[in-house]
Amino acid sequence: MSSASAMGSAGRGVQVVTLGSGSERYQVDVEALRDILLRDDVRDRSVVVVSVAGAYRGGKSFILDFFLRYLNAPRSSQLAGDWLGKEDQPLEGFHWRGGCERDTTGIHLWSEPILATLERTGEKVAVLLMDTQGTFDTETTIAENSTIFALSTLISSVQIYNLSGNIKEDDLQHLQLFTEYGRLACDGDGKAFQTLMFLVRDWMSDYEHAHGFAGGKELLDRRLESRSNQKPQLREVREHIRSCFDEVKCFLMPHPGLDVGRKTFNGCVRDVTEKFRLALLELVPSLFDPSKLSPKLINGGRVRAKDLLDYFQRYVDIFNSDGMPEAVTIFKATADACLNAAVREARELYESRMEERCVRADVSVTRRALHDCHQQARAAALDLYSGKKKLGAPEDIDEHLNKLIKELEACLPLYTWTNDAKVRDTLANAKKAYEDTIGG
Ligand code: GDP
Ligand code: MG
Repeated sequence: MSSASAMGSAGRGVQVVTLGSGSERYQVDVEALRDILLRDDVRDRSVVVVSVAGAYRGGKSFILDFFLRYLNAPRSSQLAGDWLGKEDQPLEGFHWRGGCERDTTGIHLWSEPILATLERTGEKVAVLLMDTQGTFDTETTIAENSTIFALSTLISSVQIYNLSGNIKEDDLQHLQLFTEYGRLACDGDGKAFQTLMFLVRDWMSDYEHAHGFAGGKELLDRRLESRSNQKPQLREVREHIRSCFDEVKCFLMPHPGLDVGRKTFNGCVRDVTEKFRLALLELVPSLFDPSKLSPKLINGGRVRAKDLLDYFQRYVDIFNSDGMPEAVTIFKATADACLNAAVREARELYESRMEERCVRADVSVTRRALHDCHQQARAAALDLYSGKKKLGAPEDIDEHLNKLIKELEACLPLYTWTNDAKVRDTLANAKKAYEDTIGG
């Protein structure tokens, strides 16, 4: 019996999130999502969402079409490893050559969810494939794409970060920017996201690290290693990525061969290299074999297809809201501004509490009462700071917290002085009244 069944062999990539203009910058196509997620045999099922994200023309749609081929193959073929099918069968599914979808920044879903059976429990889940794309060539596009990528990371159970040639430093920095962004939009403790897989295309140095997961792990360990002599910023990026995801993996993909550059190339398996085919046979089942499928969790709970519709909408609303800081090219700048604003707001709360109690009131208070008031206002300010959503590395967040504490402590002598001045005035007034009485 087949454990994975196509719900109709026809299908297409449907754009479900678009980058617009004006106040509603990111738009969800609710109707399109409903058509995919609210079908009778899909809506109540847990979902497995596999997303492929990265720059244009990186071979994302091409690889997604091999995912489709596996998912739509009978279980017997999946088990026998002959799901790649006929040698001369053109590769179909998401458009991977030309086509108008190609240059649209946004998120696309495959129109047909595929039902698969979890090996552990026998439960049927709906597998959704997501294609996310954008560019990283100007400040504006980086800001926009951070949101699109953040959104796809939030929605997916596996985020595949499609890279060309190697894992480069700016790839890691972009990843940090968009995962930081994503983290702001979600509540709850613990790791915000599930699995991240670096998929390095056209990996040439296989004498150094072999193709596949084994070489990928070596490369990843090397690239994500935190060394004490590293520049703090590089270390931050690495620690950040490790702290965001439950699992981080890497797969090194060989070049598919020179035929892919030919005009007539239509994705037939016979036209890609043996190495590429072997790599597909290792990669694709590792994602979709019924024993490997991981349903999407949010705050520890399973997400059903119909819930996913709400999540799309909710996350997009958050990214559209004024409460969300704007992404800028230099991530650090945003982080600093964001932390400074949180410090400022906390200090203002402290000041308003102290003013109310100690400055505006006509009468002075005892030193003891003043100190208690300071403690309460300080605690409220620190709570406010901690509760704010902040962009930034944990060390920076702590550094700003210490700065806030110092500022608040420095305020106390001022308030004490003001209060003492009132005591002096009161004493002087009392003395004068007494002298007047005596004198009079
Ligand atoms: P997307 O924009 O990321 O979705 O890229 P596409 O999947 O449309 O592929 C763009 C081009 O890259 C196509 O002409 C493919 O033939 C080619 N291509 C696909 N996979 C690979 C790969 O692994 N390496 C190289 N060099 N080219 C690829
Ligand atoms: Mg594409």
